[in-house]
Amino acid sequence: MANALPDRVDVAVIGAGAAGLFAAIEAAKRGRRVMVLEHNREPGRKILLSGGGRCNFTNLHAGASRYHSENPDFARSALARYTPADFVALVDRHGIPWHEKKDGQLFADRSAREIVRMLLAECDSAGARILPDCRVLSVERDDGFALSTSLGPLRTAAVVVAAGGLSIPKVGATDLGYRIAARFGHRVVPCRPALVALRFAEPERARFGDLAGVATEAAVSAGGRTFRERILFTHRGLSGPAVLDASSFWTPGAPVTVDFCPDADIAEEIRARRGGTGRSSPRSILGERLPDRLAERLAAGCPRIAELRREDVTRLSGEVHRFTFVPAETEGYGTAEVTAGGVDTREVSGTTMESRLVPGLYFAGEVLDVTGELGGFNFQWAWASAHAAGRSA
Ligand SMILES: Cc1cc2nc3c(=O)[nH]c(=O)nc-3n(C[C@H](O)[C@H](O)[C@H](O)COP(=O)(O)OP(=O)(O)OC[C@H]3O[C@@H](n4cnc5c(N)ncnc54)[C@H](O)[C@@H]3O)c2cc1C
Repeated sequence: MANALPDRVDVAVIGAGAAGLFAAIEAAKRGRRVMVLEHNREPGRKILLSGGGRCNFTNLHAGASRYHSENPDFARSALARYTPADFVALVDRHGIPWHEKKDGQLFADRSAREIVRMLLAECDSAGARILPDCRVLSVERDDGFALSTSLGPLRTAAVVVAAGGLSIPKVGATDLGYRIAARFGHRVVPCRPALVALRFAEPERARFGDLAGVATEAAVSAGGRTFRERILFTHRGLSGPAVLDASSFWTPGAPVTVDFCPDADIAEEIRARRGGTGRSSPRSILGERLPDRLAERLAAGCPRIAELRREDVTRLSGEVHRFTFVPAETEGYGTAEVTAGGVDTREVSGTTMESRLVPGLYFAGEVLDVTGELGGFNFQWAWASAHAAGRSA
């Protein structure tokens, strides 16, 4: 750590998050004089929060198809040149035990703090310095760049903007990265909270609000994409991995569709039971597949099985397999794991992360318009984009 600003460095990195620390390591390994400026006292605060405190630091299946962006191919090159295996090798070199939870999601066994310590140790051995409690206010062009900060001015040949997105302001998120991009003529794809819970509008809230805590596996569709995973009813709406992933594709006013029972055909099951002698009701049939309270709510008002008309079966099947609602809003940046949108990648080199408009200006991590799915993809993007930027800056 540093405790004062030098006059001049080769590379100033804005933000000591995942991307900033990693870019600093790579640039410093090349002999650059690197200074990371961070307005929090503690670097890597979001890493500490991540993965429930265990940091889902990568996903073995990270490839461009697991990210969305207005420019979907952009992430391909950086992801191919710095892979999950590369990051795992680094974690192994530091003796940090990890495990695969499922579907390629790798977590630290003990604590996210070990990942932060590893990054700080790498910064230290490469010679990159980190200046905490230093808020970057603006960046201007001179023979290189002139930064104005809360601790004074800093001149630098290159700048890596790794100031992250807007999610979780209470751990330091600001719009600085987008302001710098716009100041230098970059287009910023409109931002919105992503990987975030959705709030019901009043009718669904009245119907389901008391199911808070009920969870089940479901298929959730929004914006033409479907995610199958767990969902969780909250007091205000829906959360859980399938909803968080779908939220990244949701736009205000658009519908979201939930199949609560993706492995069964409820209409078929009802028809099959009709002729039987058992005492099955629509609710008990649903209850074999769904949590009881949800089954009760979906089957509310359904006649007994012997009295079900064809249109009752069609309606119930629609409720179970195509439950469609228009969310009132998301839970917002206060809880969103990431920010979708960001610096338009068509104006940034996919191999070096350097601005195509301003030589010497680089972007890395979440500030770019690249948003990963849940499960370690966003950190892998931070490492890969920062690796590309740090190798060039
Ligand atoms: C609760 C939570 C859990 C998550 N869990 C996971 C997970 O398990 N796996 C995964 O892949 N992703 C996870 N994510 C997403 C992941 O944390 C982000 O994608 C990642 O941290 C982005 O890295 P970044 O370096 O681009 O931005 P950040 O980590 O946000 O870093 C940006 C840094 O810039 C600093 N900064 C901002 N403005 C200024 C300024 N004006 N001056 C100085 N410094 C400034 C900030 O304080 C911050 O330290 C999670 C996110 C959240 C919120």
